[in-house]
Amino acid sequence: MREARLVIDTLALRHNVQRVRDNAPASRLIAMVKADAYGHGALAVAEALPNADAFGVAFLEEALALRAADIRQPIAVLEGLFSREEMEAALQHQLMIVVHQEQQLQLLEQCRSAGKVQVWLKADTGMHRLGFPPEMVPQVFQRLLACSSVESVGLLSHFAAADNPESPQTTQQITCFQDLHRRMQAVSPYKVPTSLCNSAGILAWPAVHGDWVRPGIMLYGSSPFAAESADSLGLRPVMTLSSRLIAVNPLKKGESVGYGATWTAERDTRIGVVAIGYGDGYPRTARNGTPVLVNGHIVPLAGRVSMDMITVDLGDLPVEVGAPCVLWGEGLPVDEVAACAGTLSYELFCKVTARVGRSRIG
Ligand SMILES: *Cc1c(COP(=O)(O)O)cnc(C)c1O
Repeated sequence: MREARLVIDTLALRHNVQRVRDNAPASRLIAMVKADAYGHGALAVAEALPNADAFGVAFLEEALALRAADIRQPIAVLEGLFSREEMEAALQHQLMIVVHQEQQLQLLEQCRSAGKVQVWLKADTGMHRLGFPPEMVPQVFQRLLACSSVESVGLLSHFAAADNPESPQTTQQITCFQDLHRRMQAVSPYKVPTSLCNSAGILAWPAVHGDWVRPGIMLYGSSPFAAESADSLGLRPVMTLSSRLIAVNPLKKGESVGYGATWTAERDTRIGVVAIGYGDGYPRTARNGTPVLVNGHIVPLAGRVSMDMITVDLGDLPVEVGAPCVLWGEGLPVDEVAACAGTLSYELFCKVTARVGRSRIG
């Protein structure tokens, strides 16, 4: 049987949730489980977090899949809804919905169904991706308050650069957000809930945690900051991708390995072949020298990543066929591998393919 495996450590997941609680003790938590919980399995993650105050997904079907599996907490649909049918489903399944553009606002205004939804009004405070421009927000808020299907309206926005403490953009976004909140609160019949922080915001901007925080990547044990390791932030890896050596071959000084012969031995050595490749989601962009953990020892990737295999320079490491290998996770931070592949942990997590066997511990 192929040995490529993905193990999800739900104890580590709960540990990381506790880190969010420690950092943002006064806020409720929307655990982000979009994109199959960043590749960790949305249902597995939701089931492991009975104490999460809510879950966050990108679109309706992701929410309905959780409801179909009997997940009862509130679920926020962050890209909102796009038809009357979707609106009906949101009412039926008690979803929280984001409203970020005019058509979505009109859907609510035209809704005549019984039942009410909780709405997050998304303001574009500077990311310029989704959200109403700030000058429209007070008027949008009034229109939402007038909708019979709207139970309550919160203010939500998203940071563009909270991972970079040097960037002035975050303080500008915060000023804009707080100003909008004041204006909404001044005309609101109830306290307007706020939500602004992703993982980077939770860790770096404690003053603006607000009522609801939206952690994603930190739940999965990866650092949102380039300059700070997950370990130094007290986070533990949830996903471990592992496999085994399926061959160990001698290689002479001057000989090269793999497609395109991109790596050449500078001394006589041994090459280990690991049963993992881009067909499993190991990034083809991983460069020579990317760390791989073989039987607990770091060795460098040597040569191009193939579809089903990678090759590593074992040197004198005393290992044989069958030795366990970790590609990222327990013992090898995903952030280091991502950096060597010119990408982020987010992408590595999401791209593990269906042929990799999965299991849960904890
Ligand atoms: C994905 C997402 C988050 C979580 O971001 P992380 O960087 O993974 O913590 C928060 N808010 C919104 C709107 C998102 O789309």
